[in-house]
Amino acid sequence: MRWVGVLLTVASSGSLAGCQKPGRAPLVVVIQLDGAGLDLVDELRADRRLPNFDRLMATGTSGPLQSWPTLRVMRTSARRTIASPIVWTSIATGKIPEKHGVRDFVLPVPGTASAWIGSEEGSARGEILLPEIGGVPPHELRLKLRSFAPVGEQHVGVFWNGNELDTVSLPVEWTILTVPLPASSMRPAQNRLELLFEKQSRPSDHGASSDRRRLAAEVAFVDVVDARGKTLLSLDPAVARERFVRGFYPPRGQLTEIQSVHWRAKPVWTLLGDAGVPVGIIGHWGTWPAYPVNGFLVSSRMGIRQTRGDSDRLTWPDSLAGEIAPLAPDVDDLEPTFERLHVNECAPRVIDRQSVLKKILIQDTYYVRLARKILAGRDTGLFSVYLRSIDVAAHVTLPWRNGSLLPEGCPDTVRSILDEVYVQIDAWIGDILDVLPPDAHVFVVSDHGMQQLQGTGDHAPFGLFIAHGARIRPGHRQFGSTVLDVAPTLLHLFDQPVPLDMDGKVLASVFDPAWFRASSIRYVDVDTSLSPDGAIPTDASEEALEELRALGYIE
Ligand SMILES: [Zn+2]
Repeated sequence: MRWVGVLLTVASSGSLAGCQKPGRAPLVVVIQLDGAGLDLVDELRADRRLPNFDRLMATGTSGPLQSWPTLRVMRTSARRTIASPIVWTSIATGKIPEKHGVRDFVLPVPGTASAWIGSEEGSARGEILLPEIGGVPPHELRLKLRSFAPVGEQHVGVFWNGNELDTVSLPVEWTILTVPLPASSMRPAQNRLELLFEKQSRPSDHGASSDRRRLAAEVAFVDVVDARGKTLLSLDPAVARERFVRGFYPPRGQLTEIQSVHWRAKPVWTLLGDAGVPVGIIGHWGTWPAYPVNGFLVSSRMGIRQTRGDSDRLTWPDSLAGEIAPLAPDVDDLEPTFERLHVNECAPRVIDRQSVLKKILIQDTYYVRLARKILAGRDTGLFSVYLRSIDVAAHVTLPWRNGSLLPEGCPDTVRSILDEVYVQIDAWIGDILDVLPPDAHVFVVSDHGMQQLQGTGDHAPFGLFIAHGARIRPGHRQFGSTVLDVAPTLLHLFDQPVPLDMDGKVLASVFDPAWFRASSIRYVDVDTSLSPDGAIPTDASEEALEELRALGYIE
C-alpha cells in the first residue's frame, strides 16, 4: 500500500519561480465547481460580491473552459448532452469518454450489461468493430452469449474480417464461446466480428408480452485474449456502445450511479501518486468504492447521507471514514444558510428539486469542512474538493434570475438564489484559502456552464478555468482551453511527463513565462488505461439515482 508514500517528495526538474523550494513538489488545490460559468462570475465580481474569485483571477490566469457534449450510451434516443460525470472524468483523466469509460449518468454494474441482437428484416446479424489489438499472437475471442429462449438452441456463424471462422451451437443458457483467431487473419487498425444467427422471433409471439422486436440472442461481452492469457480487450455493449455497430438493440443492465468500477483510465491523482506526489481527493464524482491512492480519497458516497451508512470503502484509507464522520453537518446546522440563500421561501414547496438543492448544500458544507481539516498544514501535493451547489441551483432558478414567471407561492426574493449560491461558494473558497500557505497553487475548474433552455436551467458548453500561484501567469485571460487540458496541465505543473494516450494538451500560456521557459514539456508513451476489476463488490445507491431523477438526468 502506498499510504506511507505521503512522506515522499518528488525531485523538481525545472528552475523554480516564486517561493517554491527546490526538491519539493508544489502544493496544488483544485476547487471543482459543477456548473459554474464565467458570465455570472464576471457579473458578480463587477458588483464586488465575489472577493475570493476576484483575488484569484486578478493575480492569476482565468478564462472559459470548453466542455464536450456526448451521446449517452444508456439512452434509447441519440441526443447529445453535457453530462457532469462524463465531463468530470475527462477533466480527471485528460481523455475522451470513449477511452475513460464513463459514458452516462448511470451505467450497468460491471458484469450485468447486455444487449439483444435481432433484425426487423432478414436474418439476425450482429456486427462488432474491434480496435487495434496488441499482445502476443495467436489470439482468442471470448464471447458471452445466450440464445433467445423461445427460439431454443441454435447455430451461430462466427465471421472475422469477412471470413467464416466457425459455426458454433448456442444454448439458451449464458455461455462463454471461445473461438481461436488465426494470426494471419488479424488486421492492424480495426477488426470486424460478425455473428450470423439461424433463428429469431418476437417476444409477443410467445404469450403476454407486447414487445414487437425480433430477437435472436443476447450478448454480454466480447473479450480478446492473447497467447499469454492476457485480456487485451473487454467490450460490453454499454461502455463500448459505438463498437456494437449493427444488429443490436440499446444496452441494458442493473443500473447504478457512476462508480470507480466504471473508470477505464487512470486519473491524474493516480499518475502523480505513482510518481511520489502526495494526493487527496474529496467528493469527486464516481470515486466510490474508494481505492488506494498515495494519500487519501473521500469517495463520492461520503456526501450521500442515507446510503453512506450501508456502504464499505467510503474512503481510502478505510479508517479515514470514521475520523471524518463527526464533521458531517446536520440539517439544522444549515438553517442559517438556507435562510440567507432564500431556499425556504416558496410555500408550498413547488419542486422537489429544492430539496435536492438543500441536500447538495449540506454535502458541499461537509466537503468544505473536510477540505479545511485535511488541507491544514499541507505544503506539497495535489488536492481537490468537489462542490455542486451552483449546478443544482441553476437548474431550478436560472430562469427566475432571468425574469421568468415565478411559480405560485414563491416571493420575488427567490430570484436571487443563484447569485447567493455564488456568494456562498466564494465564501467557501475563502475558507479553504485561509488554511493554505501563501505559495499554494489554486485552480478553480468547472465541467460546464449553465443556460436557460425551454424554461429551465440547462448545461451549456463553456465552464470556467482559474489558475493561480507562483508558476502561473498573473493577470491573464486565457482562451481555447478545454476540459481535456486540465490533467496534462496539472502534470506539467508538477514537472511530470504527459502520457501520449491523453487527449488534452498542456496549456502552455497559463504558466508564468519565466518558469515555463526553464521547464520543458515532456511526453511519455505509457498505457494509462484501466482494466475492469470484476472483484470489487458494488451496489446501486437508490438515493443517488433518485437525485438524478429529480434533476431530470435519468427517467
Ligand atoms: Zn447539472
